[in-house]
Amino acid sequence: MAWYCSGSTNNELIENLSREGLIKDERVKRAMMAVDRGHYAPSRPYSDSPQPIGHGATISAPHMHGHACEYLIKYLQPGSRVLDIGSGSGYLTHVIARLVMDQSPNEGSKGQVIGVDHIQELVTMAESNMGKSEDGRNLLAAERVKFIKADGRRGWPDGAPYDAIHVGAAAQELHPLLVEQLRAPGRMFIPVDIDQNQGTLASTALGGGQYIWVVDKMEDGSIHKEKVFPVSYVPLTDPPK
Ligand code: SAH
Repeated sequence: MAWYCSGSTNNELIENLSREGLIKDERVKRAMMAVDRGHYAPSRPYSDSPQPIGHGATISAPHMHGHACEYLIKYLQPGSRVLDIGSGSGYLTHVIARLVMDQSPNEGSKGQVIGVDHIQELVTMAESNMGKSEDGRNLLAAERVKFIKADGRRGWPDGAPYDAIHVGAAAQELHPLLVEQLRAPGRMFIPVDIDQNQGTLASTALGGGQYIWVVDKMEDGSIHKEKVFPVSYVPLTDPPK
């Protein structure tokens, strides 16, 4: 499947993912067309597979980036505020920024995306990757996108509340601090890896294995959690020594 959906250019890759039904939403397709993965993945950028970016991190496979955007799409509107935890290469942060902007990053909407990573070199790399396109440079200059070095397990309270939170590394629980930072209504997309032997009582109740969870904070503040599909992400950890 992976090779089948790959391409020799960014447009070919996205067209193939769309034709195979791996990207269904037109806005997501347009945003992914507008951001060249070649600026973010050092090798095989147009292959539908995760690629190493150094520091033990990977840029996720394009179909996973598509799924993440589609699960969050209702909350990625012009003007939305979004937190992207484990921003790594910065690719998805840029795609999300395209979704929360109107046409121009300088006019109209006040959408903003905060990318958080705990490795300074990756924060710097994400900024320089975005700097490879005029669109990326404009988004950074207008502070529509900001990359911050921090422990993503605590979120980024200064920018809260967020309409959407994307987590790009596997957590060990549905971090309550992150749920707190969601707007009502708002939605979080988070991979959670639960070791049945080490989980707390609360996390063990979620069941074992690594799955994407979609957490909705409803208008009345109530929380609804749903386990949606199995995945394999690198873990959300302490920073390397
Ligand atoms: N969305 C990124 C995924 C990068 S891989 C992309 O597609 O490029 C996961 C990232 O999570 C890595 O960059 C890693 O440094 C980061 N990470 C792991 N634990 C973290 C933590 N506690 N706080 C912030 N970032 C973390």
